[in-house]
Parts: sequence; C-alpha cells; structure tokens
Amino acid sequence: MQMDLHQRYGFTPVINARGTFTPLGVSRSSRQVGDAVAAALGGFFVIDELLAAVSREIAGVSGAEAATVTHCAAAGITLAVAAAMAGSDPERIAALPDANGMPDRVVLPAGHAVDYGHPIVTDIRLAGATPVMAGRPDACSIDDIESALAHERTACLLLVSSRLVGGAEVDLAQAVAAARRRGVPAIIDGAAQDLRLERLLATDADLVVLSAQKYLAAPTAGLIVGRADLVQACRAQERGIGRAMKPTKEAVVGVLAALQERRDLDLEAWSARQHRKLAGFIEQAGRVPGLQASAVPDPTGLPFARACLSVVRGAGRRDAAALARALRAGTPSIWLMDHQAADGRLMLELVPLDDREIQVILGRLAELLAAPPGEAV
Ligand SMILES: *Cc1c(COP(=O)(O)O)cnc(C)c1O
Repeated sequence: MQMDLHQRYGFTPVINARGTFTPLGVSRSSRQVGDAVAAALGGFFVIDELLAAVSREIAGVSGAEAATVTHCAAAGITLAVAAAMAGSDPERIAALPDANGMPDRVVLPAGHAVDYGHPIVTDIRLAGATPVMAGRPDACSIDDIESALAHERTACLLLVSSRLVGGAEVDLAQAVAAARRRGVPAIIDGAAQDLRLERLLATDADLVVLSAQKYLAAPTAGLIVGRADLVQACRAQERGIGRAMKPTKEAVVGVLAALQERRDLDLEAWSARQHRKLAGFIEQAGRVPGLQASAVPDPTGLPFARACLSVVRGAGRRDAAALARALRAGTPSIWLMDHQAADGRLMLELVPLDDREIQVILGRLAELLAAPPGEAV
C-alpha cells in the first residue's frame, strides 16, 4: 500500500530513523488499525458512543477514571487548559479565548517550555491563558513552583514528560502535590509517553495528555486521560474553541483498534525484540570504518534504546552533519536525529523499521563513509 502511494503520486520514499517525527508522518499503523479506519470512513456513528468506548478501553488498561479524544495532543493541551479555566460553565465556554474574569495563569517549570515543532506556550495561549514560568530553564525547585502557583488567578499547573525537557529534573509527583495544596489541577503533557501512561497517572496528575499517533501507532489523535469531571469539561469545549480541535470518526475508531492491540501486546517480548534489533544494528554499524556505535537508553525510561553513531574525524571524510545531509539527499531519503551533529553524534530510532530498511541504512553509511565528500554516491 505504501509503495503504491509513493509511485502513484511521485512521493519521495523515506526511511524514518528519526523517531515519532511529525513532518515524516510520525508512525506506522498496523493492518488491523488501517482496516478499522477504512471501515469507519464509510459509516455513520453516534460519535458519543465511539468516545465512550475509547474512555472505557483506556480506563480498563490504565485504571484512569475517564478519557476522551481530540484532534492531537497539542489540541489536548489547549483543551485541558480551557477545562481548568472554564469547567463546564456554558457561558465561560462560549467566551473563551476571552478569559476575562476567569483564572488564566498557567504555571509551568521554565525547563518544561519545550518546542516540539512549535512552542508549547502557544497551546496555552490558544485557550486564552497566559503562561507563567516557574524557576529557571536549568533548574526549578518545588518552592519555585509553589510561589508561581500562589496567585488567585492561577488556573492550573502544566508539566511535561519528554526527552525534550531541559534542565535539572523536576519530581512530577511532588509538583502535582504542590498544585493539589493550591487547589488547582495538574496536567501532564506526556505526548510521546503512552507506554508510560500508568507511571504518569501514578503521579496523581488530574489529566495526562497523549498523542495517539506516536508509539500507540493510531491515526493522528490526542488522548486526554484522568479525572472524570475534567474530562467532561474538556468535552464540553466542543461548543467553544474545541470545535476546531475535534477528532474525526476514523481517528477515534483507529484509536480504539490500536488500544485493543496494545492491551494484547506482550510488552516484555516487544522490548526484547527492540533490543535485539538495536544490538544487531550497533554491531554492524560499529564495523563501518569511521563509525563508533553504541546504545543510548531513552532518558525518560521508555522501554527501548536508540543507536548513537559517533563519526570519527578523518582526512577527507564527511563529518556528522554532512553525513546526515547526504543520507537525507539519497534515495530512499534516510532521516535520523541530528541535534547532536555539532558534537559528532547522530542518533537513530529503529522502533518502526524492518530488517530490510536497516540494511539499506547500513549500506548507505558504508558507501558514504568510504567515498570522499565531493563524490556523488
Ligand atoms: C509530539 C508532542 C506534542 C504534540 O503532539 P501532537 O499530537 O502532534 O499534537 C506535544 N508535546 C510533546 C512533548 C510532544 O512530543
């Protein structure tokens, strides 16, 4: 199916070793999820029933009270903030993003003001709220959070669980407890952390926001999981700003199918498969002249590791940045994580890749490191 679309429309074939990267289509859904989506497109449904089914399924696997679906996690963050500001009050819902008379300050640790393609503070502002940074980008104490929360117009605390978070680690459970003492909800953006949902809920957060299209590999959708009254308040935003952030029927049905697959997944066996795939890659990449390869665990505790390639400096040899550019310029176009290229390192996430794709990457690496940079290969 994939090749067909690339041929039919002349799209560039891509091997994505860059992780759940939005500009490349994020993830690969299974055949079952694709079939469910195709079936949904041809039918009519009572959308409330579809959303209730997702809520039951998530409650069943995570123990959360309730859940709902939005267009994506960014929309989920905006709607969770709006829910904290307006609750289920129809007048307030109709008024947003005009936050006049409502609590409108959203506190977040300064190091949590991440940019995942756009700044997360934009999600806050879209609800009509004002982001308030606690602490400094490199360090934020629970005291810093307490003092930022101590204001009568505080709507909620927003925390982020992601490898993009900067600075010293903030203890999420302690931060949530600070919000609880202040009497405001705590929301965690765990967009790429569906595999750690239970851990995030265990912080006692009121709401956790996830992307369904990342490791869950559903169609693009956001999931808001947590306290039933707040989930209901997020849904009530359908009559306000949430109209522009609604999920499609096919996305909700695709999420349902992906959640059922996740429930049946043997996570330990999955993790062991990822480990074997990575170990094989590292062994072969380490034999390419000019490369050193090692495994780097996910900094947030996701159950897989990534490959780190150190490009050894050598006469006439491409450096890491040039190697990444050459991989991307080839056919298929190979994408990897190049945020540490200035330090000579490239990272690869192999989770969605099959053996054939991994061999293509290894072949290209060997070719490019053997040839002088001026020469086309
Ligand atoms: C991907 C991501 C988002 C946005 O998710 P979408 O579903 O693409 O809107 C938000 N926060 C973090 C930390 C992310 O990684």
